[in-house]
Amino acid sequence: MEKTTTDFGFQQVPLSDKAKLVGEVFSSVARKYDVMNDLMSFGIHRLWKQIALQHCAIKPGQTVLDLAGGTGDLTRAIANSLTGPDDQVILADINAAMLNAGREKLINLGQIKAIKYLQANAEDLPLASNTFDCVVIGFGLRNVTQKQNALAEMFRVLKPGGRLIILEFSKPVYKHLSSIYDAYSFKILPLMGKIIAKDPDSYRYLAESIRMHPDQDQLLAMLQAAKFERCSYQNLTGGICAIHKGFKF
Ligand code: SAM
Repeated sequence: MEKTTTDFGFQQVPLSDKAKLVGEVFSSVARKYDVMNDLMSFGIHRLWKQIALQHCAIKPGQTVLDLAGGTGDLTRAIANSLTGPDDQVILADINAAMLNAGREKLINLGQIKAIKYLQANAEDLPLASNTFDCVVIGFGLRNVTQKQNALAEMFRVLKPGGRLIILEFSKPVYKHLSSIYDAYSFKILPLMGKIIAKDPDSYRYLAESIRMHPDQDQLLAMLQAAKFERCSYQNLTGGICAIHKGFKF
């Protein structure tokens, strides 16, 4: 029987409700998203993103999709590696508030060239098949309702030879790290959310959604089920995060 519910953090909700609930979280945090990212991760998310970009191995002349790109950290770095007149990076996100925060930030930073903005659901991309050399999705996949459908869409829009890079929270590999991390996620994060962003619920969702996300091997199997080849992953910071990679041939 087909599933009719899905997780929204630790709650089970109708499949049709999740995108709206996730939308409310990101509309609420959009203005404070960057500052909270730096505070919550002690700036380490910047390093994780740099490593993800190395896996993207972007070359001049390429076309790149930064999916669930939010406030555009990855897009900005990608735009800096694209130098040709026809090179392009698309910053796509389902949420208008996140997309607007990203666009404003990148324009203020002088990043205009080569970037296009697109409001789109990763599960149903309004983009032609076989278009991108690289699709990257950073901390986005765990928020998507039907992850396998989204992976199929990423596969479809990649060119043959193109690569998918997924940067996402994952499962810590060391037991002692897990208990410290749990205490931090479920006690400190909502408290920081309450004090700084005045929104403890959104930061509770963040911690819960991380725990509900497929672990390293489950996500690897999902990539393979979506027909990606040469699939692999690299743990970062003891598995707090992982980068999954797959190719379309
Ligand atoms: N990639 C950015 C980064 O690494 O800083 C933003 C990550 S933020 C945690 C997650 C983003 O995923 C949000 O901007 C949210 O709007 C977006 N998102 C959630 N569900 C989505 C979907 N179904 N399709 C596209 N974007 C989605």
